[in-house]
Amino acid sequence: MPCQLVTGGAGFIGSAYVLQARRAGIRVINLDKLTYAGNAASLSALADDPDHILVRGDIGNEELVAFLLQTHKPDAVVNFAAESHVDRSIVDPDAFVRTNVLGTSALLRVVKDWWRSLPADKAARFRFLHVSTDEVYGALQPGDPAFTETTPYSPNSPYSASKAASDHMVRAFHETYGLPVLLTNCSNNYGPRQFPEKLIPLMILNALEGKPLPVYGSGANIRDWLHVEDHCAAIARVLEAGLVGRSYNIGGHAERTNLEVVHAVCMILDELVPWAHGAYAGLITYVTDRPGHDFRYAIDCSRIEKELGWKPVHRFDSGLRETVKWYLDNSTWVEHVRSGAYRDWLAVNYGQR
Ligand code: NAD
Repeated sequence: MPCQLVTGGAGFIGSAYVLQARRAGIRVINLDKLTYAGNAASLSALADDPDHILVRGDIGNEELVAFLLQTHKPDAVVNFAAESHVDRSIVDPDAFVRTNVLGTSALLRVVKDWWRSLPADKAARFRFLHVSTDEVYGALQPGDPAFTETTPYSPNSPYSASKAASDHMVRAFHETYGLPVLLTNCSNNYGPRQFPEKLIPLMILNALEGKPLPVYGSGANIRDWLHVEDHCAAIARVLEAGLVGRSYNIGGHAERTNLEVVHAVCMILDELVPWAHGAYAGLITYVTDRPGHDFRYAIDCSRIEKELGWKPVHRFDSGLRETVKWYLDNSTWVEHVRSGAYRDWLAVNYGQR
């Protein structure tokens, strides 16, 4: 059975990837520090699955990573683990350097040493895939061409700077040591199980509580939106057929202003759970813009589409509707996240492992 070491697999995208990998018959060793953003309850469907092993630990823990590699001999390492929230990076940049830069660097070093010890045929098949963001390319204005894989890096936030640094380390490990790496840079993900500090779940959950819907500046900033399942399918495709050392941009062909996204969420809620006090859009509140807020990101993903035959299958409007419905239908998950009770879930369900 193929086996992958997935880091950050209890986070939003990582958990979707782990669920997909298990459906594809891949054994998963899931190394996650379970920070505030890691939620083992997102993997509750795998609680009795002997081929999903959740290990609480840091990607920077070299002994632990070496032990996991030697014990499970994965065919690939897929690195999702990161501090991922731009606003938090503005408050505490060092935490982002620790995990995204130093953590990734330590992970690469341990993986490289283990990879070098492999028999030639296994070493040739091994892949290290690093999951990154389009934010490393900086900001665009309306009308600018979208980011391609050759757009120079120009990160503006501590988050994107730390991700850019990690991308450079990944590339350097390929150029310097020959480690067979792959990089992916994707746009904003949306879908089920996203921690409610990010735009879409924050708006859904605040609206349901009748709380203000905070929109930065005038809400004119533009992002491309990628369904998390399309992203995970793209990662699987890159692992399968991507050229070693190459980067692949992944996008959803769905550029929207933040205000458009918030209005769309409100309209779906108006229809599904009408609010006694009027339209949810009445809760929209404009707040002081985020410092250094990139105006627009847009991603040209023609390389992965042409070379690897991947395309997003989710349309933003229907995908957003399904996402809103997921939050409405999964009130236990939502309540556990809100109360912090999801942290106990690990002890109860994975306590003996
Ligand atoms: P997330 O914050 O939901 O999850 C991150 C996970 O990493 C959590 O489970 C956390 O516990 C774990 N983690 C953090 N530090 C760790 C460490 N030192 N060791 C081990 N585990 C650690 O993030 P996400 O939204 O799922 O993003 C996953 C990856 O995709 C990140 O690398 C992020 O930069 C990238 N990305 C995300 C988006 C997006 O829209 N969410 C867009 C582009 C790229």
